[in-house]
Amino acid sequence: MTTFPVTLYSAALVLPVTAPPILDGAIAVRGEKILHVGERAWVERSLAERGVPVNHVHWDGVLTPGLVNAHTHLQYTGMAEVAQRTYQGFEDWITGFNPVYQRGHDWGADAAAGAAMLVATGTTAAADIVTDPEAAHALHDAGLRGIAYWEVMDWTNADWSAHGRAEVEAALDSLPDRPGTGLSPHAPYSLEIVPLLEIPDIVRERGRRIHIHLGESGIEREFAHEPREPWQTQGLGGFVELRQAGFGTSATDYVDHLGVLGPDCHVAHGVYMSERDRAILRARGTTVALCPRSNHIIGLDNPPVAAYLREGSPIAVGTDSLSSSPSLDLMGEVKELMRIARAQGYSGDDLAERLLTAATLGGAHAMGIDEGPHRTGYLAVGARADLAFFDVPVTTITETLTTLAEAGDGHAAATIMGGRVRHTSARFAEQTGAAA
Ligand SMILES: [Zn+2]
Repeated sequence: MTTFPVTLYSAALVLPVTAPPILDGAIAVRGEKILHVGERAWVERSLAERGVPVNHVHWDGVLTPGLVNAHTHLQYTGMAEVAQRTYQGFEDWITGFNPVYQRGHDWGADAAAGAAMLVATGTTAAADIVTDPEAAHALHDAGLRGIAYWEVMDWTNADWSAHGRAEVEAALDSLPDRPGTGLSPHAPYSLEIVPLLEIPDIVRERGRRIHIHLGESGIEREFAHEPREPWQTQGLGGFVELRQAGFGTSATDYVDHLGVLGPDCHVAHGVYMSERDRAILRARGTTVALCPRSNHIIGLDNPPVAAYLREGSPIAVGTDSLSSSPSLDLMGEVKELMRIARAQGYSGDDLAERLLTAATLGGAHAMGIDEGPHRTGYLAVGARADLAFFDVPVTTITETLTTLAEAGDGHAAATIMGGRVRHTSARFAEQTGAAA
C-alpha cells in the first residue's frame, strides 16, 4: 500500500482569505499543516519537484478555510423548541428559555450533537459558552479548535467577594486545557461591578480569553442624560443601579471603564451600539461576533452591519445556540448579514468576500487562534489544514463568492480538520473518493 505524505486538494475556486481568491487553485497538505497554496499548476509543479507521492483530491466547487463560529452555546442544542417562535426582546425570550433549561438535559450529549452539526456544516472552530460542566469537553472531543468559555452570571458584589471568585477560578481551572479556555461574564447587567472588574484579571493572569454578550438588550443602549457627577463616584453596585439612577452611559462605555475590553476579548451581538460605542470597540481591538438570526428570533433590531463594515470594525460571525437560532450552519448567518448590509445601504461588490472573511479569519482573530504554531482561519503556508468545501457553481470570482455567501447555507460538501477528513457529503465522496 502506498502512503501519501502529501494530499493535494484542488478546487475550481480557492479562497485563502489572506491572499487573493484563486480560480483553479490548490493547496498541498502534509500532516496537520498546509504546505503550499496557489494556482493548481504551480502547486502541482512544486510537489513534483519534491518527488513525494501525492494523493490528489479535486472538487469542482469552492474551497475555503474552515468556518469559525464566534458565538454559540453547544449545550443548548437540545433546546430548539425555544426558538420555534419569536419574542419581544431579551427579557421576553428568557421567560421562554428558563423553564426549558430548568427541565434538565444531558448537557454533554447535547453539546456533542451541536459539535457534530458544526463539523457537518464546514465549521472547524468555535467560541463555545459552557454553563454546565458536562458540556465542557464538546469542542475537544469533536476535534474542533476554539475556546470553551465558562459562563459567569448573577453574582452580586458581596457574594462574588465572599465565594464567587474562588468558585469561578476553580471552574476555569478545571476546564479541559484543549483547545483553549476562557471566561464569559454573561452581560453587563447580569453581574455587578466587582466581578466585571476582576474577571479580566483572572483570565489575563492565566493567558486565557474573555467573551461577553454586549449590546443585546435595549437597556444597554446609550441615551442622553443631564450632566452630573460621573457614575464612578456614586457608589453604584452595577449597571442596573446605574440605569435606575438615570445615567445614560452605554453598556459598552461602562464595561470599557471596567477594563473588560481588549484584543483578548470579543463580544457577541453588538446590536445596540452607537457610533461612539463602535469606536470604543475599534480602539480596544475588540471583535464583534454578529448573530443576526438569533437577534431576529429574540425580537431585537438588526445589528449595524453596514456601519461596522464602513468603519472597518473587526467583525466575526456566530450562530448563537439552537435556543434562539434556526441552525448552527454559519452560512445561514452569512446569508442574513448579506441581506441586512444591503438593506442598510452597503453596495460595494466586496461585500461577500468581507463577510466570508468575518466568518473565517474574523472569528479566529476574535479568539486569538489566528496566531502561533496552530494558527487557523485562513489558508497559507504553515497554517493548520482546517478546510471547508462547498457545493456551489463556480463562475467569476465575485459572482461565485456572492453565490457562496447567499446560498452556502446547507451546501457544505466536506470538512477537513488538522489535515484529517472529518465529514463528506455523498456527492463529495463520490466525486473525489475521499471519505471521513
Ligand atoms: Zn449567546
